[in-house]
Amino acid sequence: MGGMDLLEKAVSGERLSEAEVLALFDLPLPELAAAAHEVRLQKTDPEVVTFLIDRNINYTNVCTVACSFCAFYRTRRQQDAYTLSFEEMAKKVEELYQVGGKRILMQGGVNPDLPLEWYLELLRYLKGRFPDLRIDAFSPEEILGLERLTGLRAEVLLERLKEAGLDGLPGAGAEILVDEVRLKAAPARIRTADWYRIMDAAQALGLYTLATMVIGFGEGKRERAAHLLGLRAQQEKALERYQNGFAAFALWTLQVEHTRLKGKAPGATAHEYLKTLAIARLALDNIAHFQASWPTLGFKVAQAALYYGADDFGSTMLEENVVSAAGGHGRTHATVRQIVRHIVDAGFRPAERDPLYRILRYPDPEAFLREPEPIELPLA
Ligand code: SF4
Repeated sequence: MGGMDLLEKAVSGERLSEAEVLALFDLPLPELAAAAHEVRLQKTDPEVVTFLIDRNINYTNVCTVACSFCAFYRTRRQQDAYTLSFEEMAKKVEELYQVGGKRILMQGGVNPDLPLEWYLELLRYLKGRFPDLRIDAFSPEEILGLERLTGLRAEVLLERLKEAGLDGLPGAGAEILVDEVRLKAAPARIRTADWYRIMDAAQALGLYTLATMVIGFGEGKRERAAHLLGLRAQQEKALERYQNGFAAFALWTLQVEHTRLKGKAPGATAHEYLKTLAIARLALDNIAHFQASWPTLGFKVAQAALYYGADDFGSTMLEENVVSAAGGHGRTHATVRQIVRHIVDAGFRPAERDPLYRILRYPDPEAFLREPEPIELPLA
């Protein structure tokens, strides 16, 4: 099948085979972009680009996994190792409420000093103080850490965490879900099968989940295609069995500036990012929403991503610490005004959504942009 036929097939909604997904990587960027944008227009409101007001809380930086691409973690003996108190976290939630957000994305290291009861108490404490707060927290890596610590299986742990107030599991820790790539980048990192096993358990319980991908470890097109096909298969299974799959797909580029991988992993250019995003839109035919990533490549590339398959500008992420510690685009968060402005400038109508992509409101850009730039939150 020629390149144009392949793209026509994808645009018509027909599923691409493994060989066809791989063949997409050899097609020129403009054609991939046009096809990906066409699919995006078919699957989501063509005029609208959504965004979410939320806050990251990195509850501890103590971690025993020691990924070589991570500049965030500390050993428990390092001077700047920390675990936030419940009160400190409540203060951060109060700040989020002040800017109109009701969702936190809470992640940390795999800290062996924190027992399961600490997590359960934290969730109960936050939900007790903020009943309408939505808590999407803990990556599969942290759940795996709790499995090792407690001897309990993910199904049991997630059920207890859900009872205590957990709403979902962000998809961090996926990177490239091919073990050869993972072993080279971080030997102790959660393996592919465990990442899928824990996500599957979360989906079976009705929890929110996100499909993610990070490029730039030196992986080739075969590994990138395998990652996308693995996510597609999991989504198929989750939708069929639990009617609850990944809410969206998010792609970003590896940041190595302050990490041990500097000079060893190539990272990925904006061109590669946009190309992989467009291919993902064509390959992942069972995920409706695709996020543009401004923290790693900046607002301009994120605006371009809205024409390469993305229909969402991500979230405000007040106080993102993990990607930014490794380099990033020098940006740890965005104000609502900045997000609205970049969506309008790119030619779309901004809409605030919740984590499940339900529209909450359409801010009036005219009125909104006349408002002065809000004072940014003090960052811890
Ligand atoms: S990426 Fe996560 S698991 Fe790896 S060292 Fe950093 S905090 Fe730990």
